[in-house]
Amino acid sequence: MSARPPVLLTPGPTPLHPAAREALCAGEALGHMDPAVFAVNREIQADLRTLYGAPAGTFTALLAGTGSLGMEAGFANLLEPGDPVLIGVNGSFGARMVEMATRCGARVRTVTAPPGEALSPQAFADALAEEEKKGEEVRLVALVHGETSTGVLNPLAEIARAVAPSGALLSVDAVATAGMQPFDMAGLGADYVYTGSQKGLSAPPGVAPVAVSGRALARHAARRTPAPLWYADFAGLRDYWEAHSYHHTVPVQLHFALHAALRAALAEGLPQRQARAAAIGEAVLAALTPLGFTPFVPTPAHRLPTVLALRLPPGLDDAATRAALRERGISIAGGMGPTAGVIWRLGLMGEGARPAPYERFLTELEGVLGVRGVTQRFQEALGVGA
Ligand SMILES: *Cc1c(COP(=O)(O)O)cnc(C)c1O
Repeated sequence: MSARPPVLLTPGPTPLHPAAREALCAGEALGHMDPAVFAVNREIQADLRTLYGAPAGTFTALLAGTGSLGMEAGFANLLEPGDPVLIGVNGSFGARMVEMATRCGARVRTVTAPPGEALSPQAFADALAEEEKKGEEVRLVALVHGETSTGVLNPLAEIARAVAPSGALLSVDAVATAGMQPFDMAGLGADYVYTGSQKGLSAPPGVAPVAVSGRALARHAARRTPAPLWYADFAGLRDYWEAHSYHHTVPVQLHFALHAALRAALAEGLPQRQARAAAIGEAVLAALTPLGFTPFVPTPAHRLPTVLALRLPPGLDDAATRAALRERGISIAGGMGPTAGVIWRLGLMGEGARPAPYERFLTELEGVLGVRGVTQRFQEALGVGA
């Protein structure tokens, strides 16, 4: 352990919001069936409807697990063996979706794009048209909004428009975007949306906020076979969250922390958080460009504002540099899969998207690389200090 606690500039987990830390540590344990817990849960449900821009009839809840449980619960509840499903894949998290849907016994077809590029709305329309010509009714279309592994923002609104005529359910991974920009579940016609508590909301990891549309609940109710994942079954969740009967013991301390972080995010405002992340990201890019770092995602419109993916300058030793930064109390992420050793991924989520932690990172990077002026460029670009 280094003497100072590390500054987490990874794309999740993110530094805890002070209100979340306080809520996590405050007070005695409460039972999961306590009226005070149900009161907090009701506020969480209402705030999640705001977070996701959910229409009336949407069921919101926390799953007791991380973002991946949110992902898996969607497939387990909404697919049955043999169902045709269409999944967008342009990075590691899209690939994880394929793995999960396959394990549910679905017949998976993919729409793909190379790492660093966005998924094409036309490719979804074409794939759906082809399936229809074959007489196949695609039951579910799933994609990642922000692909954290490559720093790509997929054109969700356009893809949702391409999917709508097919009647397929639309499942959206908003793990990298929720809480850091407005989300319009109603306008998109999305049926299932999820995130993880430790990303844009800066709460501790361990709960996955989900939203399930009325249409998705109806499809779930009409299943021929029970969902294979008992723990996160939508009906079981509603027993607890709506009928207040026991299903499983929920992690109440994590509910309290998430509640506080979510309140803080909505109080700040989602457009304001989006602007904050964008401003820091642009200033970091301006500060690092003279060192030879370049954006991994060529098309500016496809850059994910919450994950700055930078191609490393030639000759920079990825592992050694990140290890030296970690020694100095800074945690950043490298690439995943095909981008390992090729890029760095700088998190601009929640409390990570602040000037102070980035000033510390850039100052330590100056020390590690033996260069100067990086922090100053950052401050100038941001219009602070100097
Ligand atoms: C982090 C992440 C996940 C997985 O979440 P865990 O909390 O690590 O289980 C899924 N999708 C995206 C886009 C992510 O960034």
